[in-house]
Amino acid sequence: MTVLARRLFLALFAVLTLATPALAAGRAPVILVSIDGFRAEYATRGLTPTLAALAADGAWAPEGMRPSFPVNTFPNHYTLITGLRPDHNGLTDNTMYDAARPGVKFSMGARDQVQDRFWWDGGEPVWVTAERAGVKSFIMFWPGSEAEIHGVRPSQWSVYDEALPAFDRVDRLLGWLDLPAAERPGYMTLYLEDLDTTGHHEAPDSEALNQALGRVDAALARLTAGLKARGLYGKVNLIVVSDHGMAPTAPDRVIFLDDLAPMDAVTVVTIGTVSGFIAKTPEAEAALLGEHAHLACWRKAELPARFQYGTHPRIPPIICLPETGWVLTTREWAARRPPPRPGGSHGYDPEDPLMRALFVAHGPDIRPGSLLPVFDNVSVYPLIMRLLGLPARPNDGDPEATAPALR
Ligand code: AMP
Ligand code: ZN
Ligand code: ZN
Repeated sequence: MTVLARRLFLALFAVLTLATPALAAGRAPVILVSIDGFRAEYATRGLTPTLAALAADGAWAPEGMRPSFPVNTFPNHYTLITGLRPDHNGLTDNTMYDAARPGVKFSMGARDQVQDRFWWDGGEPVWVTAERAGVKSFIMFWPGSEAEIHGVRPSQWSVYDEALPAFDRVDRLLGWLDLPAAERPGYMTLYLEDLDTTGHHEAPDSEALNQALGRVDAALARLTAGLKARGLYGKVNLIVVSDHGMAPTAPDRVIFLDDLAPMDAVTVVTIGTVSGFIAKTPEAEAALLGEHAHLACWRKAELPARFQYGTHPRIPPIICLPETGWVLTTREWAARRPPPRPGGSHGYDPEDPLMRALFVAHGPDIRPGSLLPVFDNVSVYPLIMRLLGLPARPNDGDPEATAPALR
């Protein structure tokens, strides 16, 4: 090698190593996609060819992934990226109160609360650990990403914008991959709510839902085509998950709280499927805890152990869980709304196969053709950390659950 060639070689080596400081040496970027409300079974309808191709050439849990209790959006999104059960990560439900903030209600639409680390500091999401380790995280709409959790923000984040079309979200993510290498993120997320919305309004077995599956698959196709155009398909680790499934509901499967206990003696914290109450009198407590058709209620400390739920101070004293497909409401609420029609809901028993979530992974570290038996969604977190080459924080997951999917 001539002196010049050697110098060129060294210069090139320096550029290449300097150019990738955002990721641990030799690590492929990770893209985590959440398709809200994608029931595991949807992937077997033959309507999602892009997802099927990723699964065939990667890893898939055909029977799905078990969500955590309560089977709602914010708790399960936070579980996926902390590895902690909602009982341990502080996102005990979509709607919460905390004795340290009397009268303040956390809900998905309460922007000032959603952006306040107070609610999220109980867990350390992937992007906090990643940013601290120098791995840039670009997060599009993941619950929690609008807050400065543990004092750390993702390098890029944005306020949740339901109106932003799916293709624009995909294009934004692809744009991140076009940044100069030194600015490129090592960890990215994408979020799509279409299927959850359609599942609620039109029912999981409706034609409308099948059409939504087509739209979601088209968004994934745009993503994989964009990766292919950049020579990155198979070079990035892509994990496609959902937070929970969807069960059909019906106008005649409604339980009225009024029929269980006197309404003036109960404070409703959450109601619908999984519900939380505060009884104002011992009589009201006894009434709620009694036997009901299609509904079971417990004191929080007496919930079945398999729910792994009930110790967090944010959890209301009484938790009620309807049988799958049944909905709990009040007469006053029902009177203010149009008559119920067939639709869908989640927030049921995590053991119910209808609640199972999607898991597909594809990329350089994923073994093609791996089929995983049902596993708990707490185990997605240790997988992401392993792929990023980062130390996992203490968590409720099991790295072995996804180990067979690794090359
Ligand atoms: P759920 O009521 O559990 O079905 O919640 C699903 C809804 O959560 C979707 O319709 C989204 O609009 C909403 N959502 C998802 N991510 C966010 C976010 N980061 N901020 C506010 N709302 C969100
Ligand atoms: Zn959801
Ligand atoms: Zn939903």
